[in-house]
Amino acid sequence: MLQQELAPHVGDITRALQGKIQQEQVEAELQRYLDFGVPLAQAKRDIVRNYGGKLAPASVAKKLRDVGPHDGSVDFVARIVTVNPKQVTARGEQRTIYFGLLGDETRVLPYTAWRDFQLQKGQTVTVRSAYVTEWRGEAQVNLGERASIQPAEQDLTPDALGPRAAQEKHLAELRGGIPAVTVTARVLKVQQREVQVDGKPKALWSGDLADPTGKVRFTAWKDFKIEEDAVVRVQNAYTRSWRGMPDLNLGDSTVVEVLSSDALPPRSQLQVARLLPIGELEELGGGADVLLEGTVLEVKKGSGLIFRCPECKRVLQKSECRLHGKVKGTTDLRVKAVLDDGTGALTIFLPRETVENLLGKSMEQCQEMAKEAMSPDVIEEELVQRLVARPMRVTGNATSDDFGLMLIASRADVLQPQGSRQQAEQLLGTLEVS
Ligand SMILES: [Zn+2]
Repeated sequence: MLQQELAPHVGDITRALQGKIQQEQVEAELQRYLDFGVPLAQAKRDIVRNYGGKLAPASVAKKLRDVGPHDGSVDFVARIVTVNPKQVTARGEQRTIYFGLLGDETRVLPYTAWRDFQLQKGQTVTVRSAYVTEWRGEAQVNLGERASIQPAEQDLTPDALGPRAAQEKHLAELRGGIPAVTVTARVLKVQQREVQVDGKPKALWSGDLADPTGKVRFTAWKDFKIEEDAVVRVQNAYTRSWRGMPDLNLGDSTVVEVLSSDALPPRSQLQVARLLPIGELEELGGGADVLLEGTVLEVKKGSGLIFRCPECKRVLQKSECRLHGKVKGTTDLRVKAVLDDGTGALTIFLPRETVENLLGKSMEQCQEMAKEAMSPDVIEEELVQRLVARPMRVTGNATSDDFGLMLIASRADVLQPQGSRQQAEQLLGTLEVS
């Protein structure tokens, strides 16, 4: 922690000395000064002067658009958009850190405050000696032990953090936790729902948006008069993560503009799922309506005919539900398998209809077969025969949780393998003759 916090200052000194001394040496010197109780700013000045360098003026406040993980320590003025406490355990000790969003007129960024700076939502502050790290390609501001925070001379209003602060992105680039983003998309679906917020009913709107790169779920916390099939430019929204899938949120500072309908291709062309390498999906953590192609490595136990709890739909083990004990189960048909495409692997679930399609049999026919064989395992065996080591294409929503990445297929096809057995035999035959 201390090491990481000193790093930006070590960077400042090393830069000022233009490589005259090694970073490790700077680190050791700085630590020695601090151990003697010399204030940080003075220690930096003294070390640089001792080696005949000149420290760049430290108090040039930057705009958030210009800060990055390689800047060392950074100073800026920002409005605190949100403050959330979080309990963490560090070196076996419970403590509270704070996280949220802060922004200026150029950008809104997530931050973590590693101690209590008494940050207030809506307050504009002058921040000194913060540092920036990168997480999943996004900059993140850290307010550590050495940061100082004071009320700013001038306030930034919420309007000042307007749409200009948002980055323009394609839907395929969205992931959870982007504080300010602008997208252009066609509304595939929208519906009004009611939720309870602090015990009171509140209307919200949710649905699906699509652009030529992909699809995303959205949630609008007020009525933006979004209509199905319209092309909209959504400025200054933010994303949250739901089991690894991004959810685009339209809040108080979001602006929705309706564009001409021909600004994007028609919905028939936008609803085509995009083919993703599984490795890339792993990095994203999930995605709506993705298309994967890979080889089935394994059909897992619990595939074929199964019994579910009529109350919670959990799969029964020996007629018992983990939650509801012994129950009379309802029959279902499914596949739980591992799909691998060389870049990564994930668990896929094929629901009843897709399994019926793959087998070319209805669930009732499967039940008949099981009855005749006096074992439900025949269906599982047939699925192993048909799927293992075969190339497969699946479409569906991919999510991740403690068990890793998984996809619930809305469609699944076994692809014609290059060179079927018959072709292989023919080929061998030809070779023998010639
Ligand atoms: Zn149950």
